[in-house]
Amino acid sequence: MSGNRLEPVLDPKALARQLANKLLIDGALAPAVSGRSFPVVNPATQEKISDAAEGAAADVGVAVAAASKAQKAWAKLAARERGRMVYECGRLLNEHVEELARLITLETGKAIRTESRVEAGVFADVLIFYGGLGSELKGESVPFKPGMLTLTQRDPLGVVGAIIPWNVPLLLMALKIAPAMVAGNSVVVKSAEEAPLAVLRACQVMNQILPPGVLNILSGDGPGCGAPLVAHPGVGKVTFTGSVETGKMVYKSAAEKLIPVTLELGGKSPMIVMGDADLDKAVEGAIIGMRFTRQGQSCTAASRIFVHQSVHDTFIDRLKAKVDVMKMGDPLDEATDIGTIISQQQFDKVKSYISLGEATAGAQALKCSKMPSNDNLSRGYFVQPVIFTGLSNDHRLAREEIFGPVTCVFKFNDYEDAIAQANDTEYGLAATIWTRDLKTALDATQRLEAGLVQVNQNLVVQANMSYGGIKSSGLGKEASLEAMLEHFTRKKTIIVNLG
Ligand code: ADP
Repeated sequence: MSGNRLEPVLDPKALARQLANKLLIDGALAPAVSGRSFPVVNPATQEKISDAAEGAAADVGVAVAAASKAQKAWAKLAARERGRMVYECGRLLNEHVEELARLITLETGKAIRTESRVEAGVFADVLIFYGGLGSELKGESVPFKPGMLTLTQRDPLGVVGAIIPWNVPLLLMALKIAPAMVAGNSVVVKSAEEAPLAVLRACQVMNQILPPGVLNILSGDGPGCGAPLVAHPGVGKVTFTGSVETGKMVYKSAAEKLIPVTLELGGKSPMIVMGDADLDKAVEGAIIGMRFTRQGQSCTAASRIFVHQSVHDTFIDRLKAKVDVMKMGDPLDEATDIGTIISQQQFDKVKSYISLGEATAGAQALKCSKMPSNDNLSRGYFVQPVIFTGLSNDHRLAREEIFGPVTCVFKFNDYEDAIAQANDTEYGLAATIWTRDLKTALDATQRLEAGLVQVNQNLVVQANMSYGGIKSSGLGKEASLEAMLEHFTRKKTIIVNLG
């Protein structure tokens, strides 16, 4: 991108206006071919903060052509040189953490201190991590036959289509674009309708370092812009994070072209708390695992908590007391712990699940924290975190992904039963077990059906932690070296007859 180096813009409203009505293709910001746009709304106030360009099939065509052209030269660079540029992007983005954190807070309603600033920092960190992995793109020497030199090499896949959601858009974009680019691919990203601005700004910053066309980003809706990107004949790989329903459509469309797909979909992650667990740590783990600071808008949310009957009531009391003192409020305020739900649609969906739970015989809904009292937030999509007890594991609230601050706590007395119930779900993204007994902990790690099982902790996704689900939670891994090698390259076998 030509011109002077971009300085961080710390006024998020000004930055949102500056980015209005733009796609980023071939290193340049431009409106959609149609000239159309759609509003971007601050969920804490319902005020319009900007317009995003409404990309469609025509824009996909232009972006894929630019990406395709750029990829050829990009793939010819030494892998470490590509890595160096991605690393430099990460370093530069470290200088933009505050502006990105403020912008993402404005468009998603996530609390700046507990969520957005952390996300913007991890975004830069993921780029730095992958930037150092260029020389790991190794092949093998195969002992095929004497006199035959047999090798494998890892080649890039071409143009990668990356479709991202709104809940952690910067981080989830980083997990896709960084390994894709280091491996020699170019990328066309399609951002989520609800959160198109911070990711656009991040790509603009990165385009100061990357050659034009290597990283492009489109905004637009799913059917109008995401679907043509998946179906485009020039796209050789799709990596998607979103709902199971859309993931299946993406998979079917990609199957028509026989191209590889990575899918990171939903979850209904179990947490098992044994009678001997360190209860304070388990309560802390439930709060982090449930992502109450993000209004529960996480695919790994610990939304089914199985607690041994000997500690069940104490666990509930302590969990409620801790969530009660978390502050809901203006997402841009440093004192705020919990921000808003993303949109009216999600707000209505979450509320309807809460009403359904409340109307269930035998269920108890413990509402925590307090609604903000500021007048300017009266139209914000705030929902009090809810802890449900008295529901069964086959209730809709325990089976369906709510994507809101709602968790179900179940009482158990038999470990075997807890494991069986934890696994009784269509999902398999993440699971945790809390115990001081090593044998129980290790047994659970073997038997819990999830892509990620943790003992006595609930870490969030970060660089070098291979992450991805099984069952309906998806296909493939992200965030690791393995993810780059397996999902952004293909192997070629080369046999040289030395005779
Ligand atoms: P959510 O319910 O979290 O919004 P979605 O799966 O609908 O999850 O959306 C995740 C991403 O997938 C968004 O960027 C969205 O625009 C995109 N998307 C939605 N429908 C399609 C589709 N048919 N093809 C490709 N992408 C789509």
